[in-house]
Amino acid sequence: MSERESMPYDVVIVGAGPAGLSAAIRIKQKSPDTSVVILEKGSEVGAHILSGAVVDPKGLDELIPDWRDQGCPMAEAPVNDNQHWILTKKGKYNLPHFLTPGFMHNKGTYTGSLGNMCRWLAQQAENLGVEIFPGFAAAEILYNDDGSVKGVVTGDMGVAKDGSHKPDYMQGMEIHGKYTLFAEGVRGHLTKQLKPKFALDADCQPQVYGIGIKELWDINPENHTTGRVIHSQGWPLSDANGGGFLYHQANGQVALGFVVWLNYSNPFLSPFEEMQRWKTHPEIRKILEGGKRVSYGARAISDGGFQSVPKLAFPGVH
Ligand SMILES: Cc1cc2nc3c(=O)[nH]c(=O)nc-3n(C[C@H](O)[C@H](O)[C@H](O)COP(=O)(O)OP(=O)(O)OC[C@H]3O[C@@H](n4cnc5c(N)ncnc54)[C@H](O)[C@@H]3O)c2cc1C
Repeated sequence: MSERESMPYDVVIVGAGPAGLSAAIRIKQKSPDTSVVILEKGSEVGAHILSGAVVDPKGLDELIPDWRDQGCPMAEAPVNDNQHWILTKKGKYNLPHFLTPGFMHNKGTYTGSLGNMCRWLAQQAENLGVEIFPGFAAAEILYNDDGSVKGVVTGDMGVAKDGSHKPDYMQGMEIHGKYTLFAEGVRGHLTKQLKPKFALDADCQPQVYGIGIKELWDINPENHTTGRVIHSQGWPLSDANGGGFLYHQANGQVALGFVVWLNYSNPFLSPFEEMQRWKTHPEIRKILEGGKRVSYGARAISDGGFQSVPKLAFPGVH
């Protein structure tokens, strides 16, 4: 087997989601001479991002204080109408604000595409000199002789289903870093290997998960109010926790979806089917009628809270 090529950097970041991109930007702001590379398995930044999203801009305000004036797509739809519905089979009850805790008021938040937001963050990162390699998955972790993390290996390309090498075969490359940052998102494939190896979750509670299913719709302009966000609880779920969301974003679009926490005991429950039923509720149907679904997907969500946050730094990894 031939020696793999290697590339050295000061910091290697796995994953160009909001976490990886923000970290890269912060490092470059504080230390412009530090070399930073981001590997992203999606064909482009944003391709694998799936979220609502209603975003609290607290972190962004600290990272790029003038983001609103810099063409950031998230600035297009400040949340101006926040509703929380309790659904029965045919009706709805609008929960008054004073009955909900402050964090559910969505005061000062924005709604928009997190994928577009990542594309914008990637541009900011590149302007600061961060190198981003989309289409490259970190497939394996490399270790130094002392056991610390040395970097990662990108996946081989041009491998046939049966494992044989196709004519365009390209061996993966070693990306070495003084520090490696794993920002793969929920249940990352490499992070799952690091957890037991470095006993990262020895002193925290187990993580718990939900599944979030999301669709993006172009809806009838008459039904659209930019900046309106709606959360729902109740029907159709009866023996599981979760609920729906429907965010009126810029350009006449709504991002809607359904989250089901994975602690349900009914083996016949299908989160996907529950979401499709939810869309038939008269109040939801009313908004979607005459509209067209443009994309959809699903993704795991972690929900363990602070007590489930594992140790985040260990040799070679920050
Ligand atoms: C349906 C749904 C709705 C949500 N709604 C909201 C909301 O309204 N508000 C909110 O604040 N949050 C919401 N969230 C949560 C939010 O999306 C996440 O908290 C956020 O995306 C986490 O960012 P991240 O950068 O950690 O990970 P991710 O956004 O998951 O990004 C990880 C990136 O790393 C890449 N990657 C992973 N593994 C590798 C690898 N081995 N090599 C190379 N690249 C890799 C992925 O392709 C991806 O681009 C929602 C989530 C879902 C699923």
